[in-house]
Amino acid sequence: MIERTLVLLKPDAVQRALVGEVLSRFERTGFKIIGLKMCYAAKETAGQHYADDEQWLRSVGEKTKKSYEAKGVQVSEDPLEIGKRIRSQLMDFLMLSPIVAVCVEGHGVISKVRTMVGATAPSSAMPGTIRGDFAFDSYGLADKSGRPIQNLIHASDSRESAEREIKIWFKDEELHPYQRVDEALLYRKVE
Ligand code: UDP
Ligand code: MG
Repeated sequence: MIERTLVLLKPDAVQRALVGEVLSRFERTGFKIIGLKMCYAAKETAGQHYADDEQWLRSVGEKTKKSYEAKGVQVSEDPLEIGKRIRSQLMDFLMLSPIVAVCVEGHGVISKVRTMVGATAPSSAMPGTIRGDFAFDSYGLADKSGRPIQNLIHASDSRESAEREIKIWFKDEELHPYQRVDEALLYRKVE
């Protein structure tokens, strides 16, 4: 089924001039870029994107906790509190400098793009993934500096979040469906 997903090239990707590299990976896969813009994230938009949602805040806090526990360090702080702190850091980071918002369309695009993006912490993201190839930031390094993990890119993690996030960044008229030439080959009917 044809899906749409929301990708953000975060300030570190733009500042490191990785926009073309990342976009070309999606293009070469055959996915279709149907929305693309550079902008500064307003505080309200950043707050909508990183929503004040308890379940998500807890899951973000759990990631930090697990990374410490893997190193034998016990963390007593409630994951929800950690998540709230990271959300505020993330909002500040997103507003630091221009970002690029992208809407990508294709069959199974949501999960394939997540695979191409790689694990949250670039330090453990697989080579071949965007985060694994172009960054090495870690939970520890980020925490020491009081900032979120700089991992270049955001990608929607489910149909529901894709739908919600695309609406935050793009108006309907900013999305541009069109045909790629390779669709004739991909979707041809063989008699
Ligand atoms: N993040 C962080 N520390 C954490 C978990 C998340 O700094 O312990 C940041 C990181 O930049 C990540 C973003 O918060 O990309 C959103 O977290 P999420 O769990 O949604 O990770 P993602 O889906 O981006 O891999
Ligand atoms: Mg996420």
